[in-house]
Amino acid sequence: MKLIPLMPSIANTSITGQQDSWKWLPSGNGEFSFHSAWNHIRSSGAAFELYNVVWYPSSNPRMSYCLLKALYNRLPTRDRLINFGISSSEICVLCDLAKESRDHLYFQCPYLVYIWKLCKLKLQMNDSDNKDLNTEAQNIQQKFKSKDKSYILARLALNSTVWQVWQERNRRIFQNQKMHKIMVFRRIYEDINILLRTCNWKVGNSKILSNWGYDKL
Ligand SMILES: [Zn+2]
Repeated sequence: MKLIPLMPSIANTSITGQQDSWKWLPSGNGEFSFHSAWNHIRSSGAAFELYNVVWYPSSNPRMSYCLLKALYNRLPTRDRLINFGISSSEICVLCDLAKESRDHLYFQCPYLVYIWKLCKLKLQMNDSDNKDLNTEAQNIQQKFKSKDKSYILARLALNSTVWQVWQERNRRIFQNQKMHKIMVFRRIYEDINILLRTCNWKVGNSKILSNWGYDKL
């Protein structure tokens, strides 16, 4: 691969008799650095606009990674497995009503709708008919901007919902065990209580925190 087209830069060079020296053109001072080399060869794309819904203080890496994969539609949902030629039923194991896909799970599946409605009620967020994961993540980003505990709590609620429901889906498929949606919500509630303890930001909206039992911590 030709990183630097040399011909145009040496075509008009005159020989002066001075000693030759190396210059690293991608950096401003002619000195080589890995930073300048990386910036030179990488292709920079648009920033991931939902970054602070996925990564934030007190976030759980496994949950964040799961949410990231869901946002990019990279979870091995049954519609994708069938496209890969992996034999699998296409029906959602949570509701047995529709084909399983990222968009069905988040948030069209009645099992999920119930849990997410409960979360939104406790987050004092308006419920809407527009229930796709990206929109819900953007809604949280827009509503919770102030750097306080409610900012963290709202992001944890989305992260944990995506994570716990994915765990329940896997439990049903691989372990043949079912958990009632109220128990899944209970796990989300517990995740939030545990992870929020590690946050030392200011309290923020105490009513929302109280809805999630923060005042009992
Ligand atoms: Zn379903």
